[in-house]
Amino acid sequence: MADHDFPAEMADQGIDRSAIEALCQSMCGVIGGNFSIRLSTASEDLTVQKTALLTNFMLESAQRAVARTRSYADALSNVQRIMKLSAWRISHPDGLVQQIEADAAIARAPAQRGLGWFLEQIAPDYRNSVEALFVQAGGAVEWPNPDQSAWFRTEVLPEHEAGTVVGFLVITQDISETRRAAERIHYLANHDPLTGLANRRRLQEQLTASLALSRRYGSQFAVHVLDLDRFKTVNDLYGHAAGDRLLIDLAACLTGEVRDCDMVARMGGDEFVILQTDIASATDASSLAERLTGKVRNLLEHTDYDTLMPTVSIGIALAPADGDTAEALISHADMALYQVKSASRNGFAFFNTAINDSQLARDRMVADLRRARERGEFEVVYQPLHDVARNQVTGFEALLRWHRAGGDVPPDIFIPLAEESGHILEIGAYVLREACRAAVGWAVPLHVAVNISAVQVQKGRLPELVAQILAETGLAAHRLELEVTESMLLADVDAAIEVLNQLQALGVRVSLDDFGTGYSSLATLRSFPFDKLKLDRRFVQDLGADERTEAVIAAVLDLGRALGLNVVAEGVETETQAKSLRDAGCQVLQGYLIGRPQPIAHYNNLTSGIQLD
Ligand code: C2E
Ligand code: CA
Ligand code: CA
Repeated sequence: MADHDFPAEMADQGIDRSAIEALCQSMCGVIGGNFSIRLSTASEDLTVQKTALLTNFMLESAQRAVARTRSYADALSNVQRIMKLSAWRISHPDGLVQQIEADAAIARAPAQRGLGWFLEQIAPDYRNSVEALFVQAGGAVEWPNPDQSAWFRTEVLPEHEAGTVVGFLVITQDISETRRAAERIHYLANHDPLTGLANRRRLQEQLTASLALSRRYGSQFAVHVLDLDRFKTVNDLYGHAAGDRLLIDLAACLTGEVRDCDMVARMGGDEFVILQTDIASATDASSLAERLTGKVRNLLEHTDYDTLMPTVSIGIALAPADGDTAEALISHADMALYQVKSASRNGFAFFNTAINDSQLARDRMVADLRRARERGEFEVVYQPLHDVARNQVTGFEALLRWHRAGGDVPPDIFIPLAEESGHILEIGAYVLREACRAAVGWAVPLHVAVNISAVQVQKGRLPELVAQILAETGLAAHRLELEVTESMLLADVDAAIEVLNQLQALGVRVSLDDFGTGYSSLATLRSFPFDKLKLDRRFVQDLGADERTEAVIAAVLDLGRALGLNVVAEGVETETQAKSLRDAGCQVLQGYLIGRPQPIAHYNNLTSGIQLD
């Protein structure tokens, strides 16, 4: 633009460049159309040539100014479009609206309408707060349109002339998208995406608010923690899509049973929490819990999964009596739930301090369990297995004992506790190592059977552990038997079968323990090639008392023969039981009649090969 420099001759003549430029600016409006310019100048001694030069310069300056203004205007109109801005000027005091810019989302102001027109664009509930902007002469407000389909933010800027307000510049932005995004973020942060129910965070907030209300007004409310038993099995057997559908149905069922002022939340998995507000007494809570269990049971009966007999349990905590924080209330309702599950696996229970005590006792037991091994409180005992055809003991089952300071704890108590707390991995490895080490020392190469818990199959890297212990102790793989129960296979059938196959590939045998207590025994038997089947002692106990038991035992033995499996009868206590089992064709007997679980030294005669009987 160097050629547009102010002509030197002009400067020489003492003509002020800025005065000329200002003149050009004000001419911008007319340049571009047809115009003529008559330049008169106060400077007498300007020659025509100089006048032409000046005119030329002025025209070029004016054109540049027009181009600049056009590009500002373009930029502004882009800003207006992108930011979805509308602008009006509203005159004061007559309130006439003059449209400056309009965004697509808002109606274009018809010519010369009053402020009333502007207010009509606003949802009635918000009109006062927008109107107030004019009264207080400034400020900003967010408002929706009458059908609430769009949201706007309006800022009002007063325009003054000689110290008085003569009008307002009203800038309005369409903020619908930002609001929708914010609402979505808020929704996602507070809801469970699968069921649309409130999530843990939202529930916690609501519980805290309800506790504050209860402190202020002395109101009571109930927290119900609800859990489906065996939901995991539905997931594992029918797939996650089926599990998800069940959860969605369940969410709808629960929501249908509570009042609008109550809240149903999903905590994750199959755990739901219901916040029942404003109750008069515990009876209100128990009648809701009763209704919920009934409805859920009814829902489950109409699904394909009812053969798994999923049931529902509810634990209830009452506020404010059972806790003064959201966490305390949920954890106390959880304890009540745990109580229901361990007792009956169906129905509901209220939290009480006795539960708290038993929970404490349980926590203490878990803590002691962790230290039991280093304190030398564990002992592995051995129970003989008697082979009917060879009429001799052919192996032992290793069973763990816990001599806890203050009294022995039965395995039926501490094994499930070890499974829940995760200690079973370490304990299981200990029993396995002890049993293998003991068996290596026997003069007679008898079998040794070790019980394996589901947790070990699922996350214990069992094949690696077994291979390592066999290598370490030098026990021949075929002498080791692992006893597994059906429940562990159900949790994740494919993964479990893979583990069992790897174990069999090592040369280790696998028996199916507690046969007859599960719920899909035939399916389990077909899905994996077991070496042995252990008939649960419940059947042996019922022998003689119930004719059908004999028929069941005969059928199990037939099944064993058909599949090429030896059947072991557990819990044989009397000669009569032993005789019927032998007569029925049972191959192996185990029970107090043959021998109780004892420290291996007790069975020295058997392991050393010197049979006394
Ligand atoms: P299980 O595997 O079915 O073990 C057999 C249980 O029956 C043992 O109970 C045994 O003492 C008992 N028993 C044996 N013969 C008779 C009898 O003639 N009559 C009666 N009434 N009972 C008899 P125990 O030792 O109390 O073990 C209970 C359960 O604890 C075991 O059942 C097993 O599931 C689990 N368990 C024991 N030790 C271990 C272990 O080291 N690891 C794992 N994972 N589980 C273990
Ligand atoms: Ca067993
Ligand atoms: Ca058993």
